[in-house]
Amino acid sequence: MKDMYAEFGISEKVIEYCNSKEALIKDRFDEIDRVCEYNQMKVIRAMQKNRLGEAHFAGTTGYGYNDIGRDCLESIYADCFRTEAALVRAQITCGTHALATALFGNLRPGDELLAPAGKPYDTLEEVIGIRPSRGSLKEYGVSYRQVDLLSDGGFDYPAIKEAINEKTKLIAIQRSKGYQTRPTFSVDKIGKLIAFIREIKPEVTIMVDNCYGEFVEEKEPSEVGADMVVGSLIKNPGGGLAPIGGYICGTKECIENAAVRLTTPGLGAEVGASLGITHTLLQGLFQAPQVVAGALKGAILAANIYESLGFSCVPDSKESRHDIIQAITFGTAERVVAFCEGIQAAAPVDSFVVPEPWAMPGYDSDVIMAAGAFISGSSIELSADAPIKPPYAVYFQGGLTYYHAKLGMMMSLQKMVDKNLISW
Ligand SMILES: *Cc1c(COP(=O)(O)O)cnc(C)c1O
Repeated sequence: MKDMYAEFGISEKVIEYCNSKEALIKDRFDEIDRVCEYNQMKVIRAMQKNRLGEAHFAGTTGYGYNDIGRDCLESIYADCFRTEAALVRAQITCGTHALATALFGNLRPGDELLAPAGKPYDTLEEVIGIRPSRGSLKEYGVSYRQVDLLSDGGFDYPAIKEAINEKTKLIAIQRSKGYQTRPTFSVDKIGKLIAFIREIKPEVTIMVDNCYGEFVEEKEPSEVGADMVVGSLIKNPGGGLAPIGGYICGTKECIENAAVRLTTPGLGAEVGASLGITHTLLQGLFQAPQVVAGALKGAILAANIYESLGFSCVPDSKESRHDIIQAITFGTAERVVAFCEGIQAAAPVDSFVVPEPWAMPGYDSDVIMAAGAFISGSSIELSADAPIKPPYAVYFQGGLTYYHAKLGMMMSLQKMVDKNLISW
């Protein structure tokens, strides 16, 4: 083993350090494996129940009428997420598009959208019109209201009650912290918020942005009262195999509303050729519980390695996990760059390129990104990014296998050791 790691330039000291941290967290790995086992059964059962067969793998072209594979895939998703219906399409280009489709489809002029748990993910600011943008919900006469979290990361229940009014039509809750510092919400916590909202306005539509949360717990937010859960197929549920796509799972009413927005009124979910990727989307879903488990283990290993070296980690080395994202605050630009170089050097694809900070459009500082992925932009694959500004925090996630994530951590630590950026 030492010789194999030596081929990557990893020293014995780094190997031993990482292995000693890994040895401390075996119990947590057992718990992750238990959730993985449950979710693997959930997925297989859904495939069996819907009588998935080889005939479903044939794709369609053109209009895509009567695409039995696509329809079966959607029924399987609906069963996995315990919803009445689902829209799972290659024509949904990304997570933001899935969320925008769910929002535009279920809101009408004069309605109000409420975010009861703080600012939504960056890319939704332009969808909603928080930042002025062409074609935003705001331009279509949909107003927006937001209730920020309390300073301890809890929900501000009195303010939420106050904010719900006769115009409130849809309430959007983001499960993952994304690239914020607040804690990620457990499904349980989301369930409590939903129950509170239902007391005030039972008929309101509740949507959960489920990105990065799928298969991390046994339950999904759709099992605790959400009308819709929405996400990207190049994150958790695509299992690293999906080459494109997004999903919306929810009530029949919500899904039909989203479908006529995705295609057109009158056509809805009837059109949309699967172009031969149904097989890959299904195989990705089949792998997803295992892939998510590997990514979670990698994130926990990272927190245990870097916290013990004196860097603050969110979530920390001990706390329970509700998404796959790990933030590590390194305090200096040099360490951030070295970490990202290590992630890149550990990649199966583009391992030979060196990431550099650059002035990416839409950011107020230089940003560095490391990814060597089979699917471009896929963040269920091992990837890291960081704005080059205080507090010099890196956000990383993924790894299609645990051992790849572990290699990434070892390589990143080795890069820092090589540059004398660590004291141990
Ligand atoms: C990734 C993400 C999105 C947007 O997804 P894209 O596929 O990047 O468009 C939205 N919300 C959260 C919480 C995310 O993590």
